[in-house]
Amino acid sequence: MSTATANPQLILQSVFGYASFRHNQQAIIEHILNGKDAIVLMPTGGGKSLCYQVPALCLPGVTIVVSPLIALMKDQVDALKVNGIAAAFLNSTQSQSEQVYIMQQLRNNQLKLLYLAPERLLGNEIQFIHFLKEIQVSLFAIDEAHCISQWGHDFRPEYLVLGELKKHFTNIPTLALTATADELTRNDIIDKLQFTQYRLFENSFNRPNIAYYIKPKKNFYTDLRKYLDQHKTDSGIIYCLSRNGTEELAKELIDDGFNAAAYHAGLDKSIREERQEQFLRDDINIMVATIAFGMGINKSNVRFVVHADLPKNIEGYYQETGRAGRDGLNSEAILYYSAGDVLKLKSFAKVEGNENQSKIMLQKLDKMSRLCEIKTCRRKYLLNYFGEEAPDFCGSCDTCLNKPDLKEATIIAQKILSTVARLNQAFGIRYVADILRGSNNEKIRNEHKQLTVYGIGKDLPKEEWLHYIKELLHFGYLQTSDAEYPVLQLTAKSHGVLYQKEKVFLTAPVQVVIAKEPVIYQQHPYEQLLFEALKKLRNSIAHEENVPAYIIFSDSSLLDL
Ligand code: ADP
Ligand code: MG
Repeated sequence: MSTATANPQLILQSVFGYASFRHNQQAIIEHILNGKDAIVLMPTGGGKSLCYQVPALCLPGVTIVVSPLIALMKDQVDALKVNGIAAAFLNSTQSQSEQVYIMQQLRNNQLKLLYLAPERLLGNEIQFIHFLKEIQVSLFAIDEAHCISQWGHDFRPEYLVLGELKKHFTNIPTLALTATADELTRNDIIDKLQFTQYRLFENSFNRPNIAYYIKPKKNFYTDLRKYLDQHKTDSGIIYCLSRNGTEELAKELIDDGFNAAAYHAGLDKSIREERQEQFLRDDINIMVATIAFGMGINKSNVRFVVHADLPKNIEGYYQETGRAGRDGLNSEAILYYSAGDVLKLKSFAKVEGNENQSKIMLQKLDKMSRLCEIKTCRRKYLLNYFGEEAPDFCGSCDTCLNKPDLKEATIIAQKILSTVARLNQAFGIRYVADILRGSNNEKIRNEHKQLTVYGIGKDLPKEEWLHYIKELLHFGYLQTSDAEYPVLQLTAKSHGVLYQKEKVFLTAPVQVVIAKEPVIYQQHPYEQLLFEALKKLRNSIAHEENVPAYIIFSDSSLLDL
């Protein structure tokens, strides 16, 4: 085990010029200096880099930093060199002689940090692992560690090779860092890296200086223009789903006099680098990009992040919005939502990957669209998603600002909670709604018709019960188990309602109206059939034009007609 030779606090001040550590940086650094493994979950901009850079300077040998971002390595290393730190990177962009020079420096123990792409450690480069064994490595830092997991939003097969590290370097501590990992991904990282004894360091994911807004996509361009007009000098990123989408929107913005550029993986490397550089220097205000842009980019004054299309999951959304406001100043995250996007992404999820993976992708998409549909605090929903408690209202998301119209729903809540209790907390959301409705399904009826709660909710449609149950979940009157088929469970708060007659206030469900000419997406044959049927149905019911119209599907996704 390596021993520390310098004081972290001193290094923080003298080398990096910062007065004090943030959050749990110090605890993480001490843990590493004790030679132990750790996984660090910290939001983007939280300060993950220092967690390995400071130990790198305290420890005698070299720290190997694995990062997927070849394009950014040079910037990261240059930034370290400015602080007088002996750092280098090795990747395929360098000439043979440059690489030989760096290996020589490593042999002479002249480097404190070495940045590598994971493929360096792969297959026929196995000699490189042996090379590393011959020099003094004191720490492995795995940045963007979620890339090792298929459950993460950015799986990179090259990362799997990192599972071998523990075999070769038994006594060298490994630090895995990521800004986004739900429990599934987190466990997968730990498993893949073969951590046995490790500590998990978790920071609050809350980014109090980011305000979250979700707007209907219907008037996307008009609304966006208005927003940009009011933020003429600000720097921001607009994310689009497709490469074409970025080109078209950038062109439209440029034509309208905005200082914008497109960025996606299909552009020439030199163009990408140039535009990224211009954006960092504030020569370009608005980067219209696919998700290829941004990971690891350390631009502190990004004032807004716009999602022109729906992200595939909350992890991606949160990481992208997290690029705003790294300097701590107030910033905005705006997402333009349409149920059409949900359908589009659903059909993508079906073709990509295997069945199990599709299932998880669909579940994640479902949670993403739910974020857009709730009328309660967005921040609370996001933080709950990452397993964090949060107050009911944050005061700085669109739903809190347009304070949700809460109506007393005590009786409704009592009906739901007593049904959950009567069912011994053993059933899921839809089943509970079926019991409330007094379902005609023979199996359900035969099994439960003797219950006093059977059919006590006949007065409301099933969609409304589903809505209210989700509201009770959101406000903590119910929780779900972690099982594959989650069941509804009571909480301390539900007891107050059931036994102390506490009042409950919830939002009302959206009205269901059927109107004219639905948009038809033809990506999937079944969806097309469904839309044909809906179109017929609507034409037979709706007589008025220009009525706002939505169809709510039973899984509560919303189709905006
Ligand atoms: P992450 O990798 O978690 O997204 P970074 O490591 O890039 O975040 O850090 C984000 C910003 O915060 C950087 O500009 C960094 O210099 C700054 N920072 C990190 N730790 C501290 C600290 N203790 N004091 C002041 N600034 C810090
Ligand atoms: Mg980072």
